[in-house]
Amino acid sequence: MTMSEFEIIKNYCSGIGTQHSDTRLGVGDDAAIISVPNGYELAISVDTMVAGVHFLPDLSPQLLARKLLAVNLSDMAAMGASPRWATLALTMANADEAWLAAFSESLDSMAKEYGVELIGGDTTQGPLTLSLQIMGLVPSDRALKRSGAQVGDDLFVSNCLGDAALALRILRGELHCSDEQLAELRRGLDNPQPQVSLGQKLLGIATAAIDVSDGLVADLAHIAEASKVDIEVDVEQVPVSQTFVAAGGDMSDALYGGDDYQLLFTTPTDYRNQLLKIYSDTGGSLHKIGRVTKAGGAVFLRSADQAYPAARGFGFEHFSHTD
Ligand code: ADP
Ligand code: MG
Repeated sequence: MTMSEFEIIKNYCSGIGTQHSDTRLGVGDDAAIISVPNGYELAISVDTMVAGVHFLPDLSPQLLARKLLAVNLSDMAAMGASPRWATLALTMANADEAWLAAFSESLDSMAKEYGVELIGGDTTQGPLTLSLQIMGLVPSDRALKRSGAQVGDDLFVSNCLGDAALALRILRGELHCSDEQLAELRRGLDNPQPQVSLGQKLLGIATAAIDVSDGLVADLAHIAEASKVDIEVDVEQVPVSQTFVAAGGDMSDALYGGDDYQLLFTTPTDYRNQLLKIYSDTGGSLHKIGRVTKAGGAVFLRSADQAYPAARGFGFEHFSHTD
């Protein structure tokens, strides 16, 4: 590397994000020290992104920094936690100053947007790999878990699903659309918007929650298994964007595609009005897409008055949006 590890840390990894008074010690010592306020617990999560596996090698350092933080913020959102601190393990083939400057500036601006402070990390040489650990505060005993869904609960999802998966299919050449449509769909893939404020507002309202990273059906299966309940999705109610429909998206993109980073959660039916008001205050949209039917542990898809077990792979043509 042309720059020393010490210079990289000093120039590009220090002073990033929002400084918090309960950070006792940040970048520069052998470990960071944080103080957790009385009545709160620490929610901790880590996500790694490997070049060529989790992102296309041509993704700009600006968008890469945003996506790295976004996927971690989405985990905080799914717990109802307020994100506060992060550590960054950075592995790079070489120390490209322009790349580092762009990455660092973008990480700083998004970290400030969400009130996160970078308090430490590790810097090593090797194939481009980024690993960010995030820590957030959640009122004691109130975090949103996957295991709390109850028979009779409604199932909700935020905003739209499928744009990212459809963008990926178009980029792979499986389907064609206009440049404007692709630009719009790619926004979902490259610059996801973590639902952090929604997550915090769901504390005390949602019985179970998860962020949609692997796909609606796959992530819902985690709630169904952890909560030991059967959950039914009304396929026609799953929200997709206008661009998704115009570009020829298939419902299988919305049901099985990943990378949406929306929140999927269950609530008792009597919270519905409260919930809709909460979300209309923050913008975006919430959609009731199903219900918890009985004890069990599986996901079912309901379409045209028939329910199929989702795991058996009914889907594609059956729920095609375009034909
Ligand atoms: P040590 O050898 O004791 O692990 P390092 O030289 O790895 O220390 O790191 C020195 C300081 O810089 C530590 O406080 C560490 O947390 C911080 N640091 C190293 N790399 C990064 C990074 N990529 N982002 C933020 N902080 C970093
Ligand atoms: Mg180290």
